[in-house]
Amino acid sequence: MPMFQPELETLPRPQLKALQDQRLREQVELVYERVPFYRRHFEERGLKPSDIRRVEDLPKLPFTRKQDLRETYPFGLFAVPRQELARIHASSGTTGKPTVVGYTRGDLEVFAEVVARSLAAAGGQPGMMLHNAYGYGLFTGGLGLHGGAERLGMTVIPVSGGMTERQITLIQDLQPEMIACTPSYAQTLADAFKKRGVSPEQISLQYAVLGAEPWTEAIRKSVEEGLGVKATNIYGLSEIIGPGVSNEDVAEREGLSYLWEDHFYPEVVDPETGDPLPDGEVGVLVLTTLTKKALPLLRYWTGDLTSITREPGPSGRTHARMAQIRGRADDMLIIRGVNVYPTQIEAVLLEVPEVAPHYQITVTRPEILDEVELKLEVAETFYEQYGEEALRSDLGQRVAHKIKENVGVSLAVTLIPPGTAPRSEGGKLKRVADLRKP
Ligand code: ADP
Repeated sequence: MPMFQPELETLPRPQLKALQDQRLREQVELVYERVPFYRRHFEERGLKPSDIRRVEDLPKLPFTRKQDLRETYPFGLFAVPRQELARIHASSGTTGKPTVVGYTRGDLEVFAEVVARSLAAAGGQPGMMLHNAYGYGLFTGGLGLHGGAERLGMTVIPVSGGMTERQITLIQDLQPEMIACTPSYAQTLADAFKKRGVSPEQISLQYAVLGAEPWTEAIRKSVEEGLGVKATNIYGLSEIIGPGVSNEDVAEREGLSYLWEDHFYPEVVDPETGDPLPDGEVGVLVLTTLTKKALPLLRYWTGDLTSITREPGPSGRTHARMAQIRGRADDMLIIRGVNVYPTQIEAVLLEVPEVAPHYQITVTRPEILDEVELKLEVAETFYEQYGEEALRSDLGQRVAHKIKENVGVSLAVTLIPPGTAPRSEGGKLKRVADLRKP
């Protein structure tokens, strides 16, 4: 796929590294001068800005965490006066009180640029139409994708999330080539088309760029088949900029996303000790902004679990690639002592053709032991063939057995009819309910 900024995206690594080091020095000067929180970090460790000259020096500094943004809410970590802000967004608050983030005009330029790169990697081209079903508003998804698509030269349909019937009609009438939304909402739309009797070949969409929540190959397959698209993963978080921190290339689609390293420097660290991990090992992604002016963040602890590789990818881009997010460190369930991520369970479902990747996990502790129930939809074809019998088949035990073998956790599977597990109405979908007392 044609790149949006080929020169920057394929910058030879020594030059990319030199650019990162130079930008890091500027970013460090900025926070030291303007953000008391960071100056304190330096002073407490007897460090001067000149001690952080290269990206390798970053581990001398502590992490910045979401808690730090909450404690300095709303503007405590900002490096510019309020008057210089062009826009405010907030994180969606999936894990607690929202945090406020801000952008200068220049930051919005960078935001548009990294999203434009991401959309181009996802298959977008100037002149194409993007159906943008990410939520508009405080959430960074809607306006973030919007700005990037305009920057790339696409036509945007700013439909936002929700009102599924209207979305279907718009897609049928306007014939967009690309859609952006959460993967769970893409599933909802695919179901809605099917209900209307519209087959994937009749849907104009060719590409889907999906993100904002963890997803797996099982969901990719169901969306690609259901909408007749090639689906790529877009990743980001409001604190760092929003969506567009990284994106897969549509020709690759094997779970590795190019992370735009000239703007965001990645580290992967051990979730327990915080020690840097070598490339290829899974840990918490920690990001340092290199060009942000309103809210520069050093070593921001994303809480997202992934690994990175700095081997150049098949597309010719030289930027690091990150694996699909396995979940947030906060999403990890400890079930009878075993660490489990919902995405691990979901990955097992892909191997069972009689079930659909629509489910809900409920964890309880009725007495002393944890109990897990997996409510799982059977695949439509299977249900059509066997009706209610499908729900009473030994399929549930087979799935439970497979999960026990692959993930190491015992759970009870309840099979449910197609269309009865919770669906996304447009935003992020919560598939896990942990009802144990803290
Ligand atoms: P909140 O933390 O309140 O959900 P954001 O809207 O900023 O706020 O969401 C950012 C988070 O969403 C990321 O830290 C990550 O956990 C999740 N996320 C975003 N994109 C993806 C993706 N492609 N895959 C998995 N998780 C993602």
